[in-house]
Amino acid sequence: MWPYHPHLLARPVPRYTSYPTAAEFGGHVGPADMAAALDRVGAEQILSLYLHIPFCRTICWYCGCSTGAANQTARLDAYLARLHDEIDLVAARLAGRGRIGRIAFGGGSPNAIPPVAFAALVAHLRTAFASEGAPLSLEIDPRGFDADWAGVIADTGVARVSLGVQTFNPILQAVIGRVQPGEAIIRAVTLLRAAGVGSINFDLMYGLPGQDDEALAATLDETIALAPERLAVFGYAHVPQLIPRQRRIDATALPDAAARFGQAALAHERLTRAGYRAIGFDHFALPQDPLARAAANGTLRRNFQGFTDDPADIVIGLGASAISAFPDRLLQNAKNAGAWHQAIGANRFATARGIHRSPLDQRRGQAIADLLCRGVADLDALPERDIIRERLRRFEQVGLIAWQGTRVRLATDALPYARSVAAAFDAWRNEEDMRFSHAV
Ligand code: SF4
Repeated sequence: MWPYHPHLLARPVPRYTSYPTAAEFGGHVGPADMAAALDRVGAEQILSLYLHIPFCRTICWYCGCSTGAANQTARLDAYLARLHDEIDLVAARLAGRGRIGRIAFGGGSPNAIPPVAFAALVAHLRTAFASEGAPLSLEIDPRGFDADWAGVIADTGVARVSLGVQTFNPILQAVIGRVQPGEAIIRAVTLLRAAGVGSINFDLMYGLPGQDDEALAATLDETIALAPERLAVFGYAHVPQLIPRQRRIDATALPDAAARFGQAALAHERLTRAGYRAIGFDHFALPQDPLARAAANGTLRRNFQGFTDDPADIVIGLGASAISAFPDRLLQNAKNAGAWHQAIGANRFATARGIHRSPLDQRRGQAIADLLCRGVADLDALPERDIIRERLRRFEQVGLIAWQGTRVRLATDALPYARSVAAAFDAWRNEEDMRFSHAV
């Protein structure tokens, strides 16, 4: 059992899918920053592509994603047409430089678009960029996933699929506004396996209103029986002041901090006992999965999609609100679909927000990624290492970290505290910053 120190988890902390985090993005960047970053891509440099599909069949009440209902064909068609335009815009700027190592579709629910539209996007990407052999990954909503979609997944050679599952419990599904019968999930897994998908991920949640250990354990057992290669297990963050959709969720039955901690520990214990390896602080993978191998050989990375084995230093984001990551800058397209449409329609990049990363930011970001991915970070290159050491004294006193010179190492049972420890390296955070979710 993990040691419980509630005072060390009380402060909300970022998930650190980037450093600086998206909360630090400002409007002082624009299309010229994107153009300049693309101009510096080397001829053989490995790039990843991320395409954002901001549509869903129905909107779940808990969801913080930038997405809307896919109930208007004209709106969806117009979005897809612009996405094709943006592919051409980026490809023209790259002028043949760069090699695509991975292509990911996320959202939203990419399967909210017709399968034939997905196939057309993939075909366009394959001709617009040098992407031979680049594996495709896709997020899907099991509701509405059908044989037509499975056929296109087989035809396009999609290698990885992530399913939003959250919970198998029908009462909890109703509470969070995501009703999806277990049969829909089982059918989706069966279709994906038959389509040749070798790596399936389930997203699950704990800390839901009314969720107790028994309900969580039942969902974990149903999950283990379906044997997805990967799992991401997130604590539900109830922040209706930031995500107005969540006002529909009855917060009176939310588990308290101690119960949430117990549920995170329960998931960790049950999944590792079933043969999964813990990856970072909230992912799990079967030992033969590339994510587990990356964790074992020290090459695990962190990007906007969570923990990853993707080695690319550059991710190009396409679509409204998509974020592009370059070593020296993070650039986000306009979140507002209208503004994104307008920019791409005018043959301009839609960059609206972002941040330049100084060499020191990059060193801090590397230290945070090292801690979250490998459990160890060297602070030697950080000028504020004495301040960090002081901030971490509370964790040291209870044995959650240990020092070896300037290297700090997380104890083996300190996983739930990883984000809180990482926050000590974050020059943008102050102790009162309450914008983020609780660490567990
Ligand atoms: S299906 Fe996924 S992206 Fe869409 S609203 Fe639900 S949780 Fe959000």
